[in-house]
Amino acid sequence: MKTAYNGKIARINLTTGEIRTEVLDFDLAKKYIGGRGLASKIIYDEGIATVDPLSADNKLVYVTGAMTGTNSPTAGRYMVVTKSPLNNMIASSNSGGKWGAKLKYAGWDALIVEGKSEKPVYINIEDEKIEILSAEPYVGMLSETVDDLLKEIHPKCSVLNIGPAGENQSLIAAIINDKHRAAGRSGVGAVMGSKNLKAISASSIKNVMEPFDTPKLKEVNAECLKKIRENGVTSAGLPTYGTAVLVNIINNTGSLPTNNWQGSYFEKADDISGETLKEKYLEKQYFCHRCPIGCGRVISINDKEVGGPEYEPLWAYGSNCGISDLSAINMANHLCNEYGLDAISTPCTIAAAMELYQKGYIKEEECDGIPLVWGSSDAVIEWTRRMGEGKLPLAKLMADGSYRLCEYYGHPEISMTVKKLEMPAYDARGIQGIGIGYATSNRGGCHVRAYTISPEILGLPVALDRTETEGKAKWTKIFQDLTAVIDSMGLCLFTSFALGAPDYASLLNAGTGTEHTPEELLMAGERIYNIERLFNKAAGMKSEDDRLPKRLTEEPITDGPSKGMVSKLSITLPEYYEARGWVDAFPTQETLERLELV
Ligand code: SF4
Repeated sequence: MKTAYNGKIARINLTTGEIRTEVLDFDLAKKYIGGRGLASKIIYDEGIATVDPLSADNKLVYVTGAMTGTNSPTAGRYMVVTKSPLNNMIASSNSGGKWGAKLKYAGWDALIVEGKSEKPVYINIEDEKIEILSAEPYVGMLSETVDDLLKEIHPKCSVLNIGPAGENQSLIAAIINDKHRAAGRSGVGAVMGSKNLKAISASSIKNVMEPFDTPKLKEVNAECLKKIRENGVTSAGLPTYGTAVLVNIINNTGSLPTNNWQGSYFEKADDISGETLKEKYLEKQYFCHRCPIGCGRVISINDKEVGGPEYEPLWAYGSNCGISDLSAINMANHLCNEYGLDAISTPCTIAAAMELYQKGYIKEEECDGIPLVWGSSDAVIEWTRRMGEGKLPLAKLMADGSYRLCEYYGHPEISMTVKKLEMPAYDARGIQGIGIGYATSNRGGCHVRAYTISPEILGLPVALDRTETEGKAKWTKIFQDLTAVIDSMGLCLFTSFALGAPDYASLLNAGTGTEHTPEELLMAGERIYNIERLFNKAAGMKSEDDRLPKRLTEEPITDGPSKGMVSKLSITLPEYYEARGWVDAFPTQETLERLELV
């Protein structure tokens, strides 16, 4: 049967060197779609929840989405799913660029990497050929250099790799592909490092995959493209200013955290905005595979074109560290890509360190000549470099994220994390819905599991009052389920500004031959969200892990348009559990039966 699935998974054991081809279970693919869903099911079934995440027993599943490699808009993404060494829960980080499409073209739906190599290696994939090769020449090298060198050997390939941070098993290490796209969160780079796996190169000259109904898919693609081109966010805001279009918008609502969330309004926000980035530094847009939007930024540093910062690092290095020097943010963000560090957790950890320094817990003598003071350009650049190198004692501590850093100094309340993962750039006191998403995200403090900013700030698909709690629990669940679908299809979340569940169902059905209604598709998303929760439960998650830092629920915002507000999670969380069919953070037997999870 023609279908956008290849029907093949490679299982690669780095301990024994054995490489096996397994057949994709199409029934399973239908139930879990592909991508994030399929990989979550695999690692749950294979008992990964109870292993030490940095041991040979952990597995890394690199998985393409059901639609990855088709001609659908943005259909080029891959996900890496594993057990997180940062918080012992499920890690599923996704990335665009070209690598995911190359893996799909090479004929594979997923790679399951297990075991641990004795020496540094990389995996090279050329269509059906998979080989494990020595990576000793690349040890300690920065990400872009490794990318360039592997392309000299395998000219048509796309590369993903870890920088020195992943080799050092920094718990906030990212996996970088195509030089500046990142599967950034949850310490997935550390898991690669623990396996002595430096890189994976993928190339194809064949691309045998053929969608189920090519004429129909062409028709649906055209309808979706039309909607993307007619939507203001996807046709103007994102292409023109990138995700940084949000800096001024969020600041104007008084929800842009500053100085490690001690404030929520930044006087100099415009200096670090998408508008200023475009005016002063933008060289050109970057487009991931088959993307009609092009939100990526390419800027120039020292006459070399590199990836520019997105909204999150602009905020995290910017207002959250008291910085308005855009050139310093550009450089620090570039260093995250080069060393392979999460560009949210890294600057947020620096911000936490700055608050520890402000309050006298970190002493000047620990800073080796670069004090961690608010607004210091030198500090954000050099401490990023130091965290990437992982040599200086304080930098090594910081490279494991803000939770461990603040706990070490006896003040875990200063770490602005959920489940030890640093929260992103929206203050949940000023925007009530996003706080439910942070608290209940299966991977921890994260905005891209339930992007309620869309209705609460941008009015899409409906306008919701950001200051109210009513209806937010229900919307959070819908966004979480829909996002699980989009991630599993291998599409970019930003398409959801313009598309809805009926569009995704039409795309998936034409591509793979499924016959999902929009409701059935959302139920598949719900199933995925629940299996991730079951993984966390088996890994030892407790109901009290669904929480926000006390600063958000007990300390009112001190300045700006949201002054006086706190997050009302105590009201919304019970409503959310009821909407999900969960009691005390976990699905009831009835819910498991309804979702066919027992
Ligand atoms: S919208 Fe941006 S992140 Fe999404 S696929 Fe396009 S370039 Fe990549």
